[in-house]
Amino acid sequence: MCARQIINVLQSNDINYMKIFLNNQLVNSEDAKVSVFDHGLLYGDGIFEGIRLYDGCIFKLEEHLIRLEQSAKAIMLEIPMDRSALREAVCKTCRANNLKDGYIRLLVTRGVGNLGLSIKNCHQPQIIIIADKIQLYPSEYYEKGLKIITVPTRRNNSAALPPTIKSLNYLNNILAKIEAQNLGYQEAIMLNDQGFVAECTGDNIFLLKEGTLYTPRIAAGSLKGITRQVVLDIADALNIPVQEEDITRYDTWVADELFLTGTAAEIVPIVEVDARSIGEGTPGTVTAQFLKAFKKKVSKDGVML
Ligand code: PMP
Repeated sequence: MCARQIINVLQSNDINYMKIFLNNQLVNSEDAKVSVFDHGLLYGDGIFEGIRLYDGCIFKLEEHLIRLEQSAKAIMLEIPMDRSALREAVCKTCRANNLKDGYIRLLVTRGVGNLGLSIKNCHQPQIIIIADKIQLYPSEYYEKGLKIITVPTRRNNSAALPPTIKSLNYLNNILAKIEAQNLGYQEAIMLNDQGFVAECTGDNIFLLKEGTLYTPRIAAGSLKGITRQVVLDIADALNIPVQEEDITRYDTWVADELFLTGTAAEIVPIVEVDARSIGEGTPGTVTAQFLKAFKKKVSKDGVML
């Protein structure tokens, strides 16, 4: 490795030396500044994706870009780049930061406007791409499993703000997270208006009961998780029957196994819900099978840098 390459590696480990994609170009992180009049900041008016890079492969990039486009359509935001240009910008940002494994945050904000809510004054949506080393969840989450709790804050009603839109406005989930953390838990189950399980604050949820895999319907108020779909595909490959249906708190308490899924979390076993032990109170064997199958897929199923 030459001196320049060593400096590049050292610099890429430091947030001050990260390259950020902003306004169609790569800039140093200290120069990556957004206006205080951007409606993404003023109102959470924008959309985003969290994406993983595994061994030089951007896992499920196409699926993330499609979901981004659908979120954009839902909030009537025109992304000022087509899919192939976005794909290239994401790859370029990873390469500029010398990453082989990492986490990518792709945002599109409504852009600069005035202090009113109207989107009519926002003429230039802004694309931001941050690619950084992944902050992995503590290994004990996977080894010992996670204890979670149901919180009072309900998931957004679809008629108010569809949870299928991956918007920059996460206050609903943040309030739920605060409630969980105030009670000493790291994650929480959020119910929908009808009292059925919707999802966790930043992850989808699955349970196993008598050999069948259950997960809430998307219409119950869940994000259409990319990892959720990967798990459904794995279930298919493992010949495990799947039911997408309404799930109650009771169903979670009496589940044989339970786990949550998300791009950052991957597959995390849950060993306790609302002070009830799940199964033997240790990570389940089928959950371990899913995690193993998931790990096999990650560096193969995506876009290579
Ligand atoms: N639900 C919510 C609310 C989320 O924010 C996320 C993403 N962190 C998920 C579910 C999981 O989705 P994905 O598998 O696409 O990361």
